[in-house]
Amino acid sequence: MSDTVTRSGHLVVVIGAGPAGIYGSRKLTEAGHEVVLLNRDIKPGGLAEYGIYFNKYRMKEGIRAQFRKILADPHIHYLGHVHIGQAAELSLEELRAIVQPSAIVVAAGAQGTKFLGIPNEQLPGVYHAKDLVYHYNELPPFSQQHFRIGQRVAIIGIGNVMVDIAHWLVHEKKVAEVIAVARRGPCQRAYTDQEIKSIAANIDTDDLHAELERVRLRIGADGENMEVICQAMTKYIHEASKDGASPTKVKFRFLSSPVEILHDADGHPRALRVEDTELVPKGDDFSAHGLGTFTDIEADTIVFAVGDSVDFSLGLPCGKGGFATNPNPDADHPGAESYQVFDPESGQVMPGTFVIGWSRQASDGLVGKARQDGERGVAVVNRYLETVAKDSEETAETKLARLSEALQTRGVRAVTYADVQQLEAIEKQIAEQRRIEYFRFATNEEMFARLSV
Ligand SMILES: Cc1cc2nc3c(=O)[nH]c(=O)nc-3n(C[C@H](O)[C@H](O)[C@H](O)COP(=O)(O)OP(=O)(O)OC[C@H]3O[C@@H](n4cnc5c(N)ncnc54)[C@H](O)[C@@H]3O)c2cc1C
Repeated sequence: MSDTVTRSGHLVVVIGAGPAGIYGSRKLTEAGHEVVLLNRDIKPGGLAEYGIYFNKYRMKEGIRAQFRKILADPHIHYLGHVHIGQAAELSLEELRAIVQPSAIVVAAGAQGTKFLGIPNEQLPGVYHAKDLVYHYNELPPFSQQHFRIGQRVAIIGIGNVMVDIAHWLVHEKKVAEVIAVARRGPCQRAYTDQEIKSIAANIDTDDLHAELERVRLRIGADGENMEVICQAMTKYIHEASKDGASPTKVKFRFLSSPVEILHDADGHPRALRVEDTELVPKGDDFSAHGLGTFTDIEADTIVFAVGDSVDFSLGLPCGKGGFATNPNPDADHPGAESYQVFDPESGQVMPGTFVIGWSRQASDGLVGKARQDGERGVAVVNRYLETVAKDSEETAETKLARLSEALQTRGVRAVTYADVQQLEAIEKQIAEQRRIEYFRFATNEEMFARLSV
């Protein structure tokens, strides 16, 4: 791929092999740099592999094909099952000392969980959407975890992640009811038409009419407006889902701001208490303003689908709502500063340390956006590398050998890209034998067992 490119002698460590890290790595090798790509999961892909709904086979396979091509580049040295962080086997500082890279690019996504800080969020039966998403997409160890899913599931949030969770609850779990709970009104719903089709046939239209009527005055809509909103929300109800029929009823509760999870005597959720809200103009948009009155929405399972946050245990300094980035605008390359990690204690940019993708801006957009962000960020990294001398005369092989040894000493069993290719070949064979669209191993143990033979 990049064999005709003059090699720069720089080695860059990229942490995280999701879309941002993989597309970013390609831009690094195209500029002549050697890349060590470290990934927590055995398999590459991040949320493109373990987030996108599992039956979007064609979309996922299309993305995988691109990733395969990039990862086959001999200048990208992939090591999976390597978790970097303060609580992991290898910290960022240790990694820096062992490999001595010219730059480190953090593309670890947004692995933190975002709750609302209301009472009883830690009860069994209260979950963060990402954990469930990883579970049904068979990412170890989430694939093996037990999630207690009841019959009435309240999902807090009204974007595409809510729809994905509802999709699973409607078509796989076939629960009795899914209730999407939103602080604001129906016009602020953030899911897309394309996604809602998967559960549109399950929308309880009588309940929706009643709900829209309930909130009509508080969203300032007249009857005619309400009809338009209702039509938009029920546009696809007669389109059969490709997943088949399900008895689940999908409901909405608008202008409802969660304040507490109520539980029964056994400590299981029984209702989500919400404060009724009204919409108040805020710039070009509206925000929800609490009215001081409360309603209990009966539910035995609660799922938070309110976005993600970065994982601060990775070891980068914290900033406002994420990792700290350079607050000083770059006059020559506006926006470049937002990829440079900043140390608030010293008041300086951390030399050679960058963030891209969802690690820079949590929950920001689709794969295409993560790719664009990865590539933009790496353009900043490449400019930086033009200004610095190579760290040492050591070859990438020597540095990699030192890293492999350090991982072994710490008991980490890292997998190479050749291992991943081997696993994928076995999985493909199993899928063909079973005549199913796609098969993958759902535990690390199974994957390692196959790699040993
Ligand atoms: C439920 C859901 C559904 C989605 N559906 C779609 C869809 O249908 N279409 C679409 O285009 N987009 C979809 N997206 C969005 C898309 O998946 C993201 O935009 C994209 O994956 C973000 O890329 P990223 O590389 O920044 O992070 P991620 O994809 O999260 O990748 C991060 C990588 O870093 C690794 N990592 C994490 N922490 C560490 C660490 N400490 N050390 C080493 N490695 C680490 C992880 O193993 C992972 O491989 C969906 C997202 C979600 C949450």
